[in-house]
Amino acid sequence: TSARVVVIGGGYGGATAAKYVRLLSNQGLDVVLIEPNAAFVSCPISNLVVSGLKGLDDLTTGYGALGKNHGVTVVRDYAAGIDAQAKTVRLASGGSIRYDKLILSPGIDLQFDKVEGLAAAQQAGTILQAWKAGPETLALRKQLEAMPDGGTYAITVPEAPYRCPPGPYERASMVAAYFKRAKPRSKVLILDANQDVTSKGPLFKKAWSELYPGMVEFRGQHKAVAVDARTNTVKFDVQDDVKADVLNVLPPMRAGRIAVDTGLANSNGRWCSVNYQTFESTAAKDIHVLGDSIQIAPLMPKSGHMANSHAKVAAAAVVAELAGLEVNPVPMLTNTCYSFVGDKEVIHVASVHRYEAAEKTFKTVAGSGGVSAARSELEAAYAMGWARNIWSDMLT
Ligand code: FAD
Repeated sequence: TSARVVVIGGGYGGATAAKYVRLLSNQGLDVVLIEPNAAFVSCPISNLVVSGLKGLDDLTTGYGALGKNHGVTVVRDYAAGIDAQAKTVRLASGGSIRYDKLILSPGIDLQFDKVEGLAAAQQAGTILQAWKAGPETLALRKQLEAMPDGGTYAITVPEAPYRCPPGPYERASMVAAYFKRAKPRSKVLILDANQDVTSKGPLFKKAWSELYPGMVEFRGQHKAVAVDARTNTVKFDVQDDVKADVLNVLPPMRAGRIAVDTGLANSNGRWCSVNYQTFESTAAKDIHVLGDSIQIAPLMPKSGHMANSHAKVAAAAVVAELAGLEVNPVPMLTNTCYSFVGDKEVIHVASVHRYEAAEKTFKTVAGSGGVSAARSELEAAYAMGWARNIWSDMLT
């Protein structure tokens, strides 16, 4: 029987890894992908659903082609446990699957316990996050539709690092774009635990003042510590309480639950340290961790593009090791994050990261990357092209 690679999580990191292990091994390795959702729903572009410009269907791709075109066995289940000694994954539905190498890309876990009252408010559907795309994205959209003109939408941003550094500012921009179209007397408040806008700050601020004068307000150093769902109020460690009609509270984040529960989140109990040459966990042999769950090197964003890049490095390492090849890779990662700032205009940030053997870390390549000179409609076409390309790279 051929060696088996099990992948947990069919998102940006996991789906890419499953496909590329099959491709790089010339179909020689058995690959099993464990994912509870029936189809992949993308977080990138989901802020356009919040804004009313796209539907969830536009973000959704099935897992069928991974099986049909690439021979990946997709198991619709939830990984409930990992036995790193016995090299098995326990499934929530019962039974377990043996692996020779395990690749884990479970995304993030939202730390509801860090904001008092938030878990209950989320359960009740009153204060949402929509930081994992799906039904909650639509629920947030419904709250905005139900809000009267002249109301306030407030988003809170946790201290970095969190999933998608520009995401909250893109969300705020797309809510403002909707208000400009439908509820022009309304307000958008950004309450940020960080000092300033953590990504593309000058470009976002220029867009807010030029496209939505007087509508969008940014307040730094606002660390949310509690919510009161009854009065729709958020409380901060230092600053005064804020009441809003629609509250979108993003708590701090950590590695996906399965990684935390199995002791792989060995960096402050929050993120998973990996060997950046192969993405193998520093806590367990033959387990590779990808995507938002990892402890990042400086300037590495938690993005879908990066997760896709991690996956290719890990897939190559796994295939080489199972073939008994001695390799000493010098991986490169790339990232581009496009952000919609209006219905038609987009900005981007890009970077290239190279493994530096002497320091065992990734460093940005001097002179690489940068940000847009200005927002443009051309970049909106690039953004949609980026999304279609990466979905196809992962899943078809
Ligand atoms: P995910 O893509 O979330 O995949 C994790 C998968 O694991 C999920 O399918 C989940 O169901 C599954 N899973 C979890 N636990 C288990 C388990 N125990 N067993 C089985 N399966 C499990 N990134 C960009 O590059 N560009 C953008 O423009 C961009 N925009 C964004 C906008 C928003 C609003 C948000 C929220 C994020 C955005 N991102 C963007 C970030 C991007 O979505 C994440 O960085 C990316 O999804 C990380 O990939 P991942 O594989 O780590 O996690």
